[in-house]
Amino acid sequence: MQITSDFECGNIQICSLNGNFIKAKIKTDQYSKDFQWFYFKIDGCKNAKLHIDIVNASEASFPDGWYDYSALASYDDAIWFRVDTTYDGKTLTIKFTPECDKVYFAYFEPYKQKQHTCLVKRLKATPYFLGSYNGRSVEGRTIDVIRLGLQTSVIRKKIWMIARQHPGETMAEWFVEGIVDQIEANDEEIRRILNAADIYLIPNLNPDGSALGSQRSNAAGINLNREWVAPSVERSPEIKYVKGLIEQTGIDLFLDVHGEETLPYAFVMGCEGVPSYNAQAAERERQFKNVLLKSNFDFQDDYGYPKKKKGEADLTMASNYIGETYRCLSLTIEMPYKDCKNNLDPDKGWTVLRSKALSKSVILAIDEFICLQGNSSQYQSV
Ligand code: ZN
Repeated sequence: MQITSDFECGNIQICSLNGNFIKAKIKTDQYSKDFQWFYFKIDGCKNAKLHIDIVNASEASFPDGWYDYSALASYDDAIWFRVDTTYDGKTLTIKFTPECDKVYFAYFEPYKQKQHTCLVKRLKATPYFLGSYNGRSVEGRTIDVIRLGLQTSVIRKKIWMIARQHPGETMAEWFVEGIVDQIEANDEEIRRILNAADIYLIPNLNPDGSALGSQRSNAAGINLNREWVAPSVERSPEIKYVKGLIEQTGIDLFLDVHGEETLPYAFVMGCEGVPSYNAQAAERERQFKNVLLKSNFDFQDDYGYPKKKKGEADLTMASNYIGETYRCLSLTIEMPYKDCKNNLDPDKGWTVLRSKALSKSVILAIDEFICLQGNSSQYQSV
């Protein structure tokens, strides 16, 4: 039996292998103490009663994320399913007897560079493609920014949607793939939105962390979602680049897409804690969430992060920074790794399909947002 993770996005360190009994550790993100993402392959394991102990689980970034969590497995690195997983407060134990010689395990369904390249290609082939911009990560990987729209007016709304500031939150890029599916299908909501607005889409803002198999950090060990006030070329060129682009284009709606390790819910975080928050901002958030509540069985607004008091928001976070700086509707979208307690699917938990279904509801909410706010922007097209 051979266990490996020396491939793109891979992460595991083997401590010992004794028959079918494996002791392993998740490696920390490069230059960081954070860790949670794992992804590895076992060869030569057909019919072996695998018992995998991840012995440093309780030291992970979100140890409570392991309660009620089940790991993903796949025979072909493409079709994934949940397997028997338990957590005793110290060790995460995965038990599985593969029917094939080779099996993969991962924290959630991976989203690799090959898939990302294909996604960008699809976006460039749609009739809405207006152009692309390329930023550079710490290690020199490309940050793809895709501009979509019809360029019929200079006063069009500017919508920015970014995903995977935290690279291990792969459901965020699956969510973006759901957006791309809809753009290709060209439903009436998509036509209305892209008639009235430009969408700037970043499917993966942290390509280094993704390739390195990290959970929270870029290649410099930095949590990009704490860099929005003062990003630097050395620490966080990814944010410096995107922040600069947003300064040029202006912004009327910002969506930052994430996965949530601990809470078993899909929800959004608003800007209630920023100094400029007012009744108008609250109403815009209420209207947006209302469409999600009406159109999506997973989405709920009862459970999420504790609401901050006005003035207490962490402005280094993307959605707070943008909401405060541009006084626009600005939300962090969170999807669980586990399941939705309000809409349980014990066999599958949260899935790619559920991520895409949420993206469908988000398109409905953007359509409603434009319908209520009009298509004019406070910013000129550049
Ligand atoms: Zn996140």
